[in-house]
Amino acid sequence: MFESLSDGLQGAFKSLSGKGKLTESNMREGLELVKQSLLDADVSYSVIEEFMSHVSERALGKRVLLSLRPHEELVRIVHDELVSLLGPVDTSLHLKKDGPTIIMLCGLQGSGKTTTCGKLAQLLLEENIKPLLVAADLQRPAAIEQLHVIGRQLNVPVYSDSENKNPVQVCKAGVDKANAEDARVVILDTAGRLAIDDELMAELQRIDKRVSPDQVYLVVDGMTGQDAVQSAGAFNEALELDGVVMTKLDGDARGGALLSVKHVTGVPIKFMGTGEHFDALEPFRPDGMASRILQMGDIVAAAREAHRIVDEKEREEMEAKMASGDFTLDDFKNMMEKVAKPGLMGKMMSLMPGMNQFKEVMESEEAAGGIKQTIGAINSMTQDERKNPKLIDAARRTRIAKGAGVQTPVVSQLVKQFEMMKPVMQMMAGKGAGDRMKMMQQ
Ligand code: GDP
Repeated sequence: MFESLSDGLQGAFKSLSGKGKLTESNMREGLELVKQSLLDADVSYSVIEEFMSHVSERALGKRVLLSLRPHEELVRIVHDELVSLLGPVDTSLHLKKDGPTIIMLCGLQGSGKTTTCGKLAQLLLEENIKPLLVAADLQRPAAIEQLHVIGRQLNVPVYSDSENKNPVQVCKAGVDKANAEDARVVILDTAGRLAIDDELMAELQRIDKRVSPDQVYLVVDGMTGQDAVQSAGAFNEALELDGVVMTKLDGDARGGALLSVKHVTGVPIKFMGTGEHFDALEPFRPDGMASRILQMGDIVAAAREAHRIVDEKEREEMEAKMASGDFTLDDFKNMMEKVAKPGLMGKMMSLMPGMNQFKEVMESEEAAGGIKQTIGAINSMTQDERKNPKLIDAARRTRIAKGAGVQTPVVSQLVKQFEMMKPVMQMMAGKGAGDRMKMMQQ
C-alpha cells in the first residue's frame, strides 16, 4: 500500500521541487511544435514569425514545474499569449440611445456579408430591437434579391433601389427610411470583390465618409488562409474598422485567419459565424478559439492542472524548505491534503505523460485510505514530533497509532519513508533542471 502511495506522490513532489527554467535550447522542440501547429491552422507566415519571437522572449527564463516538460510549459505560455492577443472581448454593437445606429459590413465577395446581415438582424429581433437592412451591394446581381429573401424570412424591412447605381445615395436613402420607420439599427450590406481593388475601396471610403456609420465591421471567411493578412490589411488601411466577424467556422477550418486578421487590424473580433442559418452567430470567445487554433488542448490542460494545484509562491516556499532540509511532516501533510481531493489524483495522473499507470492505483479505495491514514497519523503527532520525527520512539509510535486509529507499522513506515525522502528532496530542490535530469538517469 505504501509503495503505491509514495509512487503516486512522486508526481506531486516533482512539481513542488521544479526549478528548471525555459532556455533557448530546451524551448527549441516546443517552439517547433507550436510553429507547426500554427502553420497547420493557416496562420500567416509573417504573423507566426512575429508571434513566435514575442513568445520566446516572454517565455525565456520562466520556471518549469518539474512534473512538466519544457515544451509543455511553453505551450501553456503560448496559449495564454494567444488568448491575450485575440482579446480583449467586446461583442457589443454599441447601439446609440437615440437615432438609428448604422452598422456597415464590408469584406470580399463570398465572405458571408449578406448572410451576416440576416444573422445580426435576428440577434437584434431577439432583443426586441427593430433593424432595417440596406442592399448597397450593387455589384453582385443577385445580392439585392438575396437580401429581400432574408428580409421576408425574418420579417424585417429591406431598403433597395435597383435603379440607383450610386451606393452612397442608396445608403443615405436607407438611413432616411430607418428614421421614418423608427428602426433602431440600419445594417448596410456593401459590395465585395473577389479580390481587393482600388475601385471597391474607394466606394467603401465614400460610403464611410458620407454616411458615417457608427460601426464598421470586416467580414472575413474563416477558411481563408495566407491571403487573410493582405486583404484585412487593405480594408484596415482604407476604413476605420470597429470589429471583425469571422464566418464559416463551423467547418474543419482551425481559424488561423482570425489570428492573422486580429494581428493586422487590432480591432475586436465581434462574432463567429458557425453555419448558414440565421441563428448561427456566436459571440467571440478568445479562450476557445486559442485552443482551436493551437490544437494542443491536452498539453495546455496538463500544464494548467499542475499549476493550479501548486501555485508559484507556495512552490517557492516549499522548495526553499526542501533545499534547506526544513521540510517537516506538517509540510508533507499539507501537500498530501492538496492531492488527496476526490478525483484529483486520477485526473492529474491521466494528464501527465507516462503517469497513466498510477491512475488506477491512486483512484483506488486503498490509496485514498492510505492517504487518510497517513494524514491521521501526522495529526496525532505533537508539533515537536512533526518537526523532528527522530523523536518518535516505540512508546510514541504506539501513542500516535492509537490516536489515529491505525496499526503501529503504519506510523513506523511513515517515519521511515519520510526520513528517506528528505535528503532526496533536499538534493533535488537544490539542483538545476539539467543536474536533475542526470540524477534521474543514473
Ligand atoms: P457575401 O458575398 O459576402 O454577401 O456572402 P454570402 O452571405 O452570400 O455568403 C456566401 C456563402 O457562404 C453562402 O453560401 C452562405 O450560405 C455561406 N455562409 C455564410 N456564412 C456562413 C457560415 O458561417 N457558415 C457556413 N457554413 N456558410 C456560411
